Amino acid sequence: MMQFPPMDYSAATGFGGNTLDRMSERREDAPFIASMRESAAARVILIADDLLVMGTGAVVLHSRAVGEALGALWHEATFLGVDKVGPVFAAAVPAPAEGAPYTLENLRALAIQDVVPLDVLGAVAQARSLVGWHARHGFCANCGAPTHPGPAGMRRDCEACGATHFPRTDPVVIMLAVDGDRCLLGRQRRFVERSYSCLAGFMEPGETIEAAVRREIWEEAGVVTRRVAYHASQPWPFPSSLMIGCFAEAVSLDIEPRDAELEDVRWFDRADIGPMLDRTHPQFIAPPAVAIAHHLLRAYARYGAPAMPADAEIPA
Ligand SMILES: [Zn+2]
Repeated sequence: MMQFPPMDYSAATGFGGNTLDRMSERREDAPFIASMRESAAARVILIADDLLVMGTGAVVLHSRAVGEALGALWHEATFLGVDKVGPVFAAAVPAPAEGAPYTLENLRALAIQDVVPLDVLGAVAQARSLVGWHARHGFCANCGAPTHPGPAGMRRDCEACGATHFPRTDPVVIMLAVDGDRCLLGRQRRFVERSYSCLAGFMEPGETIEAAVRREIWEEAGVVTRRVAYHASQPWPFPSSLMIGCFAEAVSLDIEPRDAELEDVRWFDRADIGPMLDRTHPQFIAPPAVAIAHHLLRAYARYGAPAMPADAEIPA
């Protein structure tokens, strides 16, 4: 059994607490995967139309019998890994009929409600991402022929052209630009009233994390930043993002957005951040603990601007 690392900032984010042993080294071992599939201890996370199927009493891990009764194709269920009880799979099902003792849960709402433990929520994110990937990759991107899942469901194969397709993870940078006891936050039009959060944006092909952080802050605020320090990451399964949380050292302070993505962007005093997170600030609020932005801001409120990496000495 793989040894798990100690708690880190990432593990405390919503969807970040996945403790399944993925047993990735056994995925190509078809007899092993078959034995997992036949295990009496096997359970399954069921996803219907991108929503989680939850049983009475907030049950998320269903028996194989329940999964198959709801329409899961057991031989195609994706092997997520093993917990203390046994193997855990993910499968797509049609939405259960009205009146059935199951509810369909939106994962974002579920994460905020705190009804599912963080480690299970992490496995749910893994399930949601993979089930969504299978649903959208039934045909080969190379030749257009139908594809079929590999033994563990962690790849899809095209028999027509021999291409193998793997699930992808799409990186997003989310960052807090800091200048000593000031930090830069913005609000999007869709945010709840009075709410401010860290700036964020998709990484682009051929870009480093540091370059993406600096580019997004420049675009959204017109602020120049220099050194960048990684803090934590968060899986965000809508459908397959990984939020990469960083601090960035501001070297210019004037705000002059280059795009119109944000409704407002401004500097905040560090002393205001704790009350914004705790929802006791008279004017503003900051994101809840499900969001990685919360953890960046919490660390900054507690400890101040983080140590930045030394400038690289690039060998000639
Ligand atoms: Zn193909």
